[in-house]
Amino acid sequence: MINIAIDGPSGAGKSTISRRLASEFGYVYIDTGALYRAVGLYAFRNGIDSKNAEAVAGTLDKIEISFTHDENGVQRVYLNGEDVSADIRQHEISMYASNVSAIPSVRAFLLELQRSIAEKQNVVMDGRDIGTVILPNAQVKLFLTATCEDRARRRYEELVSRGQEVDYEKVLADMRERDENDSKRAAAPLKQADDAVLVDTTGCTLEEGYLCVKAAVEQRMKEKAL
Ligand code: C5P
Repeated sequence: MINIAIDGPSGAGKSTISRRLASEFGYVYIDTGALYRAVGLYAFRNGIDSKNAEAVAGTLDKIEISFTHDENGVQRVYLNGEDVSADIRQHEISMYASNVSAIPSVRAFLLELQRSIAEKQNVVMDGRDIGTVILPNAQVKLFLTATCEDRARRRYEELVSRGQEVDYEKVLADMRERDENDSKRAAAPLKQADDAVLVDTTGCTLEEGYLCVKAAVEQRMKEKAL
């Protein structure tokens, strides 16, 4: 199986680019952030403090997460059988997801689910620790990034286009906080794998970012004769 791992901070364009890449290559796209978001959503709905490791760990045996792909390759995520694909995208769930993702038992809970999918099919999997922890043997690894301001602007435009009422300064502050959480946590921090190709999309349109990523992936595949 061919595994393409794409890691990087929030708002670098990972999901849009990875989805398109998967569709062009005929691979399955796996958005792993959605899994952490589903755990975060469970904490949110049940009034559980997402920073309280013990409280969150105590909920894991009540949570079942699964996902499917529709005929267009769009991933849908289920929390205890309920399709929560839209709910997990609410802006307030982002911080819950970031908080629960720092808890080692949550990461362990989601590890096998991610690995088992990549064993069975060719995937483009995006996240924070795919190249470093989940799929250390992925044939192609990319680290996609951009400045915090650039990523906040894109996230702001995406939320506004979905009709959510948000303030740019708040999105930027949240982005900084999530960056800090994701890169400073002890459990699987966001970090470029030694063998990952770095792609910086600062100032790029999504189209330009996509073309850069595609070229980097094709180059890697050629080098590895895939
Ligand atoms: O990618 P997305 O913004 O949807 O991810 C939500 C949160 O889940 C991130 O802030 C990050 O903390 C966490 N995450 C993670 N590991 C992954 C994917 C996401 O820790 N592989």
